[in-house]
Amino acid sequence: MDPFDSNSTERANLPRNMIENSMFEEEPDVVDLAKDSTAFPTFPALDPDEVVYEPRSSRLLVRGLGENDMDEDEEDCESSARLLGMSFMNRSSAHRSNSSPYTRQAPPRSCSRPSARTMVVCVLFLVIVASMTMVLYFLPGCNFTRAGCPKTNKTTPIETVYPISTNGKLFPWAQFRLPQSIHPLSYDLTLTPNLDDMTFTGRTVINMSVHHNTNCIVLHGANLNITKATFKLGDGKASDVTVLEYKPRQQIAVKVSDDLKTGQYCVLTLHYSANLSHTYDGFYNSSYTDKDGKKRVLAATQFEPLSARKAFPCFDEPAFKATFQIQIIRKPNYMTLSNMPKAKSTTLTSGLVQDEFEKTSVKMSTYLVAFIVADFTPISKNVSKTLVSVYSVPEKKEHTDYALSTASKLLEFYNNFFEIDYPLKKLDLVAIPDFLAGAMENWGLITFRETSLLVGKQSSPLEKQVVASVIAHELAHQWFGNLVTMSWWNDLWLNEGFATYMQYMSLQTVFPKLDIGNLFLAVRFRALDKDALNSSHAVSTEVNTPEQVEEMFDSVSYEKGASILLMLNACLLGEQQFRKGIIQYLDQFNESNTDTDGLWNSLTQVEVSTQHLNVSEMMNSWTSQKGFPLVTVSRKGDQVTLTQEHFLLTSDNTTHTSSLWNIPVTYVNDSCSLAPECRQVFTLKTKSGTLKLPESVKWLKLNYRNTGFYIVHYGDEGWDALTAALHSNVSVLTHEDRASLIHNIFALSRLGRVSFHQVLSLLNYMSNETETSPVTEALLQLSNIYRLLDKRQEHGLVSRMKDYILDHFRSLMDKQTWEEEESVSKQELRSALLEMACSLNEENCTQKAKALFKEHVKSNGTIRIPGDLQRVVFTVAAQSDEDWDTLLHMYAHATYDAEKRKMLQGLASTQNARRLVWILKAGLNGDLIQTQELPLVISRVCNGFTGYLFVWDFIQENWDQLIEKFPVGSFAIQTIIKSATSQFSTQAHLDQVQGFFSGLKERGSQMRSVQEALETIRLNRRWMDQNLSTLRKWL
Ligand SMILES: [Zn+2]
Repeated sequence: MDPFDSNSTERANLPRNMIENSMFEEEPDVVDLAKDSTAFPTFPALDPDEVVYEPRSSRLLVRGLGENDMDEDEEDCESSARLLGMSFMNRSSAHRSNSSPYTRQAPPRSCSRPSARTMVVCVLFLVIVASMTMVLYFLPGCNFTRAGCPKTNKTTPIETVYPISTNGKLFPWAQFRLPQSIHPLSYDLTLTPNLDDMTFTGRTVINMSVHHNTNCIVLHGANLNITKATFKLGDGKASDVTVLEYKPRQQIAVKVSDDLKTGQYCVLTLHYSANLSHTYDGFYNSSYTDKDGKKRVLAATQFEPLSARKAFPCFDEPAFKATFQIQIIRKPNYMTLSNMPKAKSTTLTSGLVQDEFEKTSVKMSTYLVAFIVADFTPISKNVSKTLVSVYSVPEKKEHTDYALSTASKLLEFYNNFFEIDYPLKKLDLVAIPDFLAGAMENWGLITFRETSLLVGKQSSPLEKQVVASVIAHELAHQWFGNLVTMSWWNDLWLNEGFATYMQYMSLQTVFPKLDIGNLFLAVRFRALDKDALNSSHAVSTEVNTPEQVEEMFDSVSYEKGASILLMLNACLLGEQQFRKGIIQYLDQFNESNTDTDGLWNSLTQVEVSTQHLNVSEMMNSWTSQKGFPLVTVSRKGDQVTLTQEHFLLTSDNTTHTSSLWNIPVTYVNDSCSLAPECRQVFTLKTKSGTLKLPESVKWLKLNYRNTGFYIVHYGDEGWDALTAALHSNVSVLTHEDRASLIHNIFALSRLGRVSFHQVLSLLNYMSNETETSPVTEALLQLSNIYRLLDKRQEHGLVSRMKDYILDHFRSLMDKQTWEEEESVSKQELRSALLEMACSLNEENCTQKAKALFKEHVKSNGTIRIPGDLQRVVFTVAAQSDEDWDTLLHMYAHATYDAEKRKMLQGLASTQNARRLVWILKAGLNGDLIQTQELPLVISRVCNGFTGYLFVWDFIQENWDQLIEKFPVGSFAIQTIIKSATSQFSTQAHLDQVQGFFSGLKERGSQMRSVQEALETIRLNRRWMDQNLSTLRKWL
């Protein structure tokens, strides 16, 4: 999925790349970049009244035990087992094929039936022996292959406490993950949505096989009112069964009268009714206003990661793959879409029409199921054996051509590249009017935000770049994610890191004119910035709660994942080795699930025969530990010593780590620094290593073209030599290398390893710089500092910083044109420069922008503003009350979404407090401004001096409403928190933020993004304390 939408957040923290797919911003703005959100499920908070936890030493208990009439034998068995740490046995049982995990863990009266006290005694003895062993091997959080076993003494077993179902009976399962005893084989779904009253009814028939003996079936279901349930074993007769529900975990269970034996087959049929969701996940309703001003409604799905269960009862974990046959009953004036082509339509006696889709020809995970009921229109084209179609609301049909041709070319490219054809007969790409994520890769039915798919005839190349990126990402998922799926959400990066990497790689090959390289470079810088925080996490990391699943959709899974794949590819013998490895991986795990080790093993098998590079050994150091290395260079004569340490911004005794990485260090020097042949490689696996270099070498640049995921410190002399070299000739290094020096030196300043004076010395070469990536990186870094100073009300420094920026970039700013521009790279450069110039109130810029806006309005829109300049023009216009009103009117009537979003960004940048408050409320309310845009609005409002404190109040006042719209942990919430807090740099604000979030408890206090926010504020404060005097002296 692309959690990020294509527009911007503030650049400081959310660099433009989160754009990731969709994530990317439409334009390289420097002043504010953005991303937003995803659609995820809302999880009911655990109701403390429903489960009673007792102190560890006592006998158990579940409230209401008396009501359940547990008899003496059972109670003894149950309580003893709990005290002996049954939960560990349950955990371990999943690994053993010949025992039933379910039975072992089941409470009496539901899944296991202890018969007599004597039996209990025997079992007890076994349990004692087994539990001691298991305790050693299955400590929570212990994973021998990755994290290693924690050394702390955590051997006290945890008691399993079974929760109470909604009907008062004991619910037979006490874990977040489902038992492995029953596996679904196929689902038959019939859904009847009613778009008049926004409800639906459903019937789900699940064919299952028994993998371990059990007498209970546990699966997921959320907010479904189950009206009838029947169960059938083998060829037997179906009989009615009772469905138990435990809402906090969104699980349902059916207890069957006979034991189910390994190898048997059975069928569960469930009838239910539910409301269409009003948020952005599950089976949800969406609406739009058509060209006649009439409100149109539709229903669509967004299941990843945990919301398929809101549309139909299912085993909602990615490893439970099955086939799906779907029927949807609709009114005649709607059409339906699902993963597969339609097999037939039948008019029912009620006048409704039943659409029946072909059974899926592949096994797939539940989160990839999708269906839509709407009145969209398509355009289509055949690409080898697949019919590719793009759907939109009828009046936007003319905006679908670009998507169709792009998707067709990319599908062909991937078919060839992976040497496995896309397996379905059709591929639909659908623009949904109200959709939170950037896009979602449902197999055969990819859903998009309108801005991520539709391109107007006059769209700028940058707008096309956004759309092509999202399509490339989602198509890559048809292989990475859909065909081969991660076994569990801890390895989400196998889906997202790969899709992100493939999106850049494929665009570079298929659409070189889209100049995607600058964007990928910026993406890697931002991934480093985030991963430098102590609150970051390993690429592959344990997840045990719904919120943790949500939080995996972040820049570590996407951008760091993609960055380490680039690094690996760059150190293999060319693209072909890497390609062979991933083809092997796709072949080996076709239609099944795997984990990170599976990937590295596939790549190692291919690689070993040629270079003897142990991919597994190297890459494990990048996926199993958080953060990345700082490589420090020191030269003595012909000896160059490289030392590695964890680049950790928050470094003190408590956070000291001894992490080491297996780093393929690349380097060039002044005698040969540009061509790929100049690049040399040194593998640094230990704390330090030495290489030899002629003494005549004047300077060294490590991390050639920034393909490695590390930061380099050259020492004072090394930085001086590089700075001098760039002063005399900017072209001694590639533009990626120049941008990487700029990024690294700012990062080192934040770490406290270089003085800000050294940063400014390097930047002195900027007056000769003309390439996009170094300029945009420098502007981004400077604007971050500018905004911090601004929010600290350091008026004197703000004005000196403004002069500094204008002094260094004015000549480049003055050279920018305001006409249509074809080159993507030039568009990126000029929109970054002009947005900066206008935001600093540089008069040439603001006058020009105002004039363009007036002309545009006067001509009734016929005189166009070039797409890449729209945001800067609208932002300048929005500073005048009169033009703000005009812009709001334009926004309300605009139909082309990419343009509309830029108007919204303009509106949200006003410094008029009343208007800001209005716009925040309008975003929450969702009428004039769709709620999907709220994260964007918030990030934009935060950029301005007037708005950032309003936003903080707004978030505190409306938190409950926000988490109702955007689930706790979701990308939208991550964005909102980051936008609102990343410019704080005082103790007072730190206390406020800490106070607010710690008071939220289960409503968000545990989120990683909260830790990240607090850490960022502390770092901002530290940077200010350390650098204000330098700034006063040197600016
Ligand atoms: Zn994705």
